[in-house]
Amino acid sequence: MIYFFIFLIGISFGSFLNVLIYRVPNGLNIAYPPSHCPNCKTPIKWYHNIPILSWLVLKGKCYYCKTKISFRYPLIELISGLIFLAVFIKNGVNLFSLNIALIFLLLLALSMIDFEYKAVPDSINLTALTLSFFVSNDILENIKNALLLAGIFSFLRFYVSFYVSLKEEHFLKTRVKNSPWLKSFYPKFIMVEALGEGDIIVAGTIGAILGLKLSLVALFISAILAIFPSIYLRVTQKDYQLPYIPFLAMALFIVYIFDERFNYLLEQLYG
Ligand SMILES: [Zn+2]
Repeated sequence: MIYFFIFLIGISFGSFLNVLIYRVPNGLNIAYPPSHCPNCKTPIKWYHNIPILSWLVLKGKCYYCKTKISFRYPLIELISGLIFLAVFIKNGVNLFSLNIALIFLLLLALSMIDFEYKAVPDSINLTALTLSFFVSNDILENIKNALLLAGIFSFLRFYVSFYVSLKEEHFLKTRVKNSPWLKSFYPKFIMVEALGEGDIIVAGTIGAILGLKLSLVALFISAILAIFPSIYLRVTQKDYQLPYIPFLAMALFIVYIFDERFNYLLEQLYG
């Protein structure tokens, strides 16, 4: 029974998460005005704003103007409810679980925004990082792990950027060799930034929640999760940049929920 309430709390937060996902990137106030239909601007009555249920009852349309309401809204609410359930079942019914579940919800918002805009608002990202310092009693240890992972991820970013830049430079040099008139079009030094700055903050959040060892496992898993979509996109769309935060967030969730199994695996590998 308690888990039913936790699920309800989760989908309620999910409802608010939809507001964040829509309003924060657009620079809108998150509290005012109250929810309204994006098409006809009619304020939404509370009984038309019940998470998941209202969308089902209204068959995914605005009650007034019948404009279609994206399936994304009830989906985010449902996922939020499931995240709450998973975290509370794993970690017990306590305030730490609430904190961790909220961090996962913020990461879900960041993932959705990253997919759409290829950038994420620092306000949400830093809120998640700050909350992650308090996922357990040992706040100093959590901050230390956040710093470690942010550092590791920064180094990784330098290495990957350096490598990509070298490749790019080589490519341009060969082109200039073949047609010297191109020279004036190209910059002397090429600096390609691989991985976004927002990713580093998320890495810090991962560090605080998982600790050093499991965080490295999560980074590894995030890379594996991203491989197939990035190959697919390379073949179908040339210039599309794959957002990385969704994969970091998914990997964090997987390793967090199954941490015992991953710990066991690590022990088998390293004795
Ligand atoms: Zn409407």
